[in-house]
Parts: sequence; structure tokens; C-alpha cells
Amino acid sequence: MKNPTMVDKVNLPVPIYLDFQATTPLDPRVLHTMMPYLSGLAGNPHSTSHSHGSAALKAVENARAQVASLIGASPDEIVFTSGATEANNLIIRGVTREIRNRERNAVLTATTEHKAVLAVIDSLRAEGFDTQRVQVDRDGMLDLAALRQALTIRTGLVSVMAANNETGVVHDLNEISRLARAQGALVHTDAAQAAGKIPVDASVVDFASISSHKMYGPMGIGAAYIARGLRRRIEPLFKGGGQEGGLRSGTLPVALCVGFGTACHIAAQEMEDEAKRLHHLRELFLETLRSHGTTFTINGTMRKRIPGNINVHFPGIDAEALLMKVRSEISISSGSACTAESLDPSHVLLAMGLGVERAEESVRIGFGRTTVEQDAIKAADALSKAVTALGRVGYKQPVLEI
Ligand SMILES: *Cc1c(COP(=O)(O)O)cnc(C)c1O
Repeated sequence: MKNPTMVDKVNLPVPIYLDFQATTPLDPRVLHTMMPYLSGLAGNPHSTSHSHGSAALKAVENARAQVASLIGASPDEIVFTSGATEANNLIIRGVTREIRNRERNAVLTATTEHKAVLAVIDSLRAEGFDTQRVQVDRDGMLDLAALRQALTIRTGLVSVMAANNETGVVHDLNEISRLARAQGALVHTDAAQAAGKIPVDASVVDFASISSHKMYGPMGIGAAYIARGLRRRIEPLFKGGGQEGGLRSGTLPVALCVGFGTACHIAAQEMEDEAKRLHHLRELFLETLRSHGTTFTINGTMRKRIPGNINVHFPGIDAEALLMKVRSEISISSGSACTAESLDPSHVLLAMGLGVERAEESVRIGFGRTTVEQDAIKAADALSKAVTALGRVGYKQPVLEI
């Protein structure tokens, strides 16, 4: 008998998913490679006295090589974690003893970092580290002059993300790293948004964090890249069986490792073509918005950003009201999902000096692997219609002079 409380899904509009910076759907090809390890083949990869265990270990090590290859690292420089949040914690907290010993108590980061970096660095401040957030310009790019000024021989660590999760802005890591290293500082990058979307070269930095579920892999796994030679200078977050060379105790989730590895492999293979496709979808979306005569501006530079992301400001239109209006048609967000519990305006847009009003009138749209042309057009149609409707009930859309 049909459960009377069950909603008849057939009659519900299924919104188009356009929040790929928050998470990405699991690629079916990834799931396919995970299946054998979800359904019986996975022994404990640390229990290799039998063939189940050694098969699991082999699968894990193959995955580690795939992850390493995506960012130009060696397999022995990859530590599996539960995600980018844990990798950020492992690296930033783990390096504190080292920088303290070298009397380099200063830690620099950027104002637009993810909370998974900002909160960790704030915790160092509470422990007596001299922490500082370097500003960005109106385009969201790190102010290199400000970085140069903030760097001293006391700087132990510089942590700047590769690409921003709200604006998609890509930082000049080569230059940031060059400046930091010239002062003898170690460099970390949160590459959760960049890895798999644009080329990431681990050799430019000392540490990096990546996340599987931001690149069509399973949730619950990620990796810390720790350059060879620095391993022993990192203290683990927790102790136990000493897996991952003592840096991350706990049994490795074989199926997740395998899925993450496949996701990295696919991303590496398809990155170039997919970037072109996403770029086209983004242009199509913007063209469609324009064709409706909708007034908007874009937050963050258009010159250096990850493909597929766009952060749009609709002047005079409250973003929360806009999201409610388009809810049944598209799934997009305002600001970062990771701080979505609060309705505070985006700290990223505020740090760019865009003002509270503009921050409250901006939405983030992300196109991804499952997005087709029709989705981009429908999204622009839905947003334009909603902007017009909201404009009628009292929201005013001013004409911008640009
Ligand atoms: C999503 C994200 C994280 C958090 O990654 P998890 O794997 O979910 O812990 C950290 N930094 C950035 C830039 C992100 O986009």
C-alpha cells in the first residue's frame, strides 16, 4: 500500500542544481569504481596478512597516486583526511610547533578565506600567535603590496586559498609563494575549489588541502599535501594506530579513497574541455540575463576565476527574497554554504569593500558537470522573472552607470 505521507515526487518541480561550489554530485563513473569496495571486497588496508587486506591496500595506494598526480605531487606527499576542513586543521595546527621552534610566530592569511582556515588561524591567535589577515582589492584579488608589507622574518606560515568558494577568484599563488618564501615562510593553500577545475601545481607551495566532494567524488574524504621533508615537522591532530605515516591515525575508508582517486583521474583528463564548456555556459547565462534587460553586476574579477562560477549582484533586490522566489526552479545560494546557518552578509564580499547592501543583494551560481545549455538559460529566465516581480512589490532596481 502506498504510504499516505509520501509526497508524489512526479508532480513536484525538480529544481536545477546550480550550487557546485557547495558540493558536487557523485559522478556515476566514480561510484562504479567504488562499488566493489562498498560491497565486500574491502579488507582493512592495514591488515595485509591476507589477500582481502592487501587488495584493499593496493586500491588505496593506487588512489593515492591518482590524487598526487592531479596536483603534481608524489604519492608519499599525500595524507588522506576526512575533507579539506580536516586537512586545513592538520596543516595549520600541525605546523605550529615547528614555527614556534624557529621563532616565527607570525601567521598570515587573507580576509576572504574559507571559515575552515580563518577559524583555525583565530584559534592560533588565542594561543599567542601573531596572526594577520591580508586585505584583498575590490576585485577579490589578494593585495600583493599589503602582503609584502605584512611579511617579516617572523612570518612562519602564509595560508592563502587557490580559488575562492564564493567569487571563484583565483589568486596568484606563484607570486604569493615567491614573496612568502623569500622571507623564509612556509606556504599553505586551501585548494578545495581549485583542484580538479584549474591546474594546481603543488610544488609551488609547501602544503595544500583538497576535498573530494568538490570534484564529483564522495563526501567524507579529502587530502593534505605535505611536501616531502616537511612531514616530520607536522604534528598529527590525533594519535592512534599510526596510519598515514603517523600523521592521521584511523582505518582508511577504502571505498572513499578509491572514489576520490577516480574523481581526480577524471578531473585531470577532462579539465581542459570541461573548462571551455563551463565558460560557454556562464556566457550563455549572462547573455540570457542581458537579453531580458535585467540589471546586474558581477562580484570578483572576470579575468581570473574558476570556470563555471559566477557571483551576481542584482541592485535593489534582496538576495534572500530572490532565492525564495526561484526556489522551485533553481538551487543557488547567497554566499557560502559553510556559514549558511547565519544570515550575515558574506564576509568575502564585505572584505572586498562592496558594502553590506551589495553583499545582501548578491547570489552565487555554479555550473558543473551535469549542467546543460538549457539549464543555464532556464536559470537566467527564472532569475530575471523573479527580479522583475520583486521589483514590482517594492524593491527598486536602480539603473547603474558603468
Ligand atoms: C568546501 C570547502 C572547504 C571544506 O571542505 P570539506 O571537504 O567540506 O571539509 C574548505 N575550503 C574551501 C575553499 C571550500 O570550498
